[in-house]
Amino acid sequence: MAEDCIFCKIANGELGTELVYEDDLVVAFKDMNPQAPVHVLVVPKRHYENIIDDVPAEVLKAMADAVKVIAEKEGIAESGFRVIMNTGDAAGQTVHHLHMHVLGGRDLGEGLV
Ligand code: AMP
Ligand code: ZN
Repeated sequence: MAEDCIFCKIANGELGTELVYEDDLVVAFKDMNPQAPVHVLVVPKRHYENIIDDVPAEVLKAMADAVKVIAEKEGIAESGFRVIMNTGDAAGQTVHHLHMHVLGGRDLGEGLV
């Protein structure tokens, strides 16, 4: 666990955040500042800075599997959704613990952002 990392604390249950998904490697919870009707963050329990922090394959697989479960549970698997991993300063990464944004429930347009 990284010191003073908000997502480590959430993953450890220290903040009492309601989880929408949990398994051995991953938790997911609603973004506190949602950008779409469905906006869930998928977060590994272990601390990695971002996607280029030598993340083990089993963690990436667990995150992808979680996305599927969440998309089905939230009713956006059929309509489609967007997965975003902000990486570093230019992307505006504000929480430096690896996470995927899962956004859906509205027309997200054709662009990347
Ligand atoms: P990023 O810019 O990719 O680092 O996004 C971090 C996201 O974490 C933002 O969308 C925040 O709204 C969200 N966030 C930060 N703290 C919390 C929290 N305690 N609970 C839920 N979402 C959070
Ligand atoms: Zn962390």
